[in-house]
Amino acid sequence: MQINSSDLGLAARVAGLTKTYGAGSGTVTALDDVSVGIRTGEFTAVIGASGSGKSTLMHVMAGLDTPTSGRVWLGETELTSLGDRELTRVRRRSAGFVFQSFNLVPVLDVRSNILLPFELDGHRPSKDELTWIDHLIGTLGLSARTAQRPYELSGGQQQRVAIARALATRPAVIFADEPTGNLDSRTGREVLALLAEASSLHGQSIAMVTHDPVAASHADRIIMLADGRIVHDGGRLSAADASELMLSVEPAR
Ligand code: ADP
Ligand code: MG
Repeated sequence: MQINSSDLGLAARVAGLTKTYGAGSGTVTALDDVSVGIRTGEFTAVIGASGSGKSTLMHVMAGLDTPTSGRVWLGETELTSLGDRELTRVRRRSAGFVFQSFNLVPVLDVRSNILLPFELDGHRPSKDELTWIDHLIGTLGLSARTAQRPYELSGGQQQRVAIARALATRPAVIFADEPTGNLDSRTGREVLALLAEASSLHGQSIAMVTHDPVAASHADRIIMLADGRIVHDGGRLSAADASELMLSVEPAR
């Protein structure tokens, strides 16, 4: 019998996931037999030293990269059995992305950037979806910016556009990789509060990669990687406790 991740209350899941790069003596094991689920409606932080495998885990979970061995589910779908085309379609429908570098399309205005996931998926937003998008634009403080291009905005404003874009399709999971990495600490805290709110108010499942204990302290759950393995998986921590946890393991390689 096929057990879907959603049957387990999970928005995404990997089982026995190993990812290696390169071949022969140059082989790097980025992830070593990792099994973990991202729980529906939760804000999960994935922490760990640089090189511990955080981005690789996120990329494989989101279908941006393929496992060397093991299985991956996103929303209702097992990714590991899909061809490229289907994988792209599932990723567009089930995953939202927020990157350190914002990744907005420079030639599109703010509104078009937010609507891009619908455009790429080849469907017009429904009336209900447009209402949700207008709500997002309002609550993210972007109402006066919709006709502007990304380069006309501050970093914090650009990241809010990226968050609106990620939330627009109400994906099974939003994957955020160091979303505050290019922001000053105050703007970074605002962005973290917005992500936490998307999860607490709207039940949005979020997996956020960070090496910042302050960022991690906004999450409901903290998973820590070291050398490609999970070494901690627990509930909310203060920034001080998250920092202590991160210092408790040897830096990766
Ligand atoms: P983190 O996000 O925690 O800093 P990564 O997942 O980016 O860690 O990297 C984990 C390990 O895999 C590191 O040793 C890194 O050098 C290696 N790695 C990541 N991506 C690649 C790649 N495309 N080719 C070769 N090695 C890679
Ligand atoms: Mg990384």
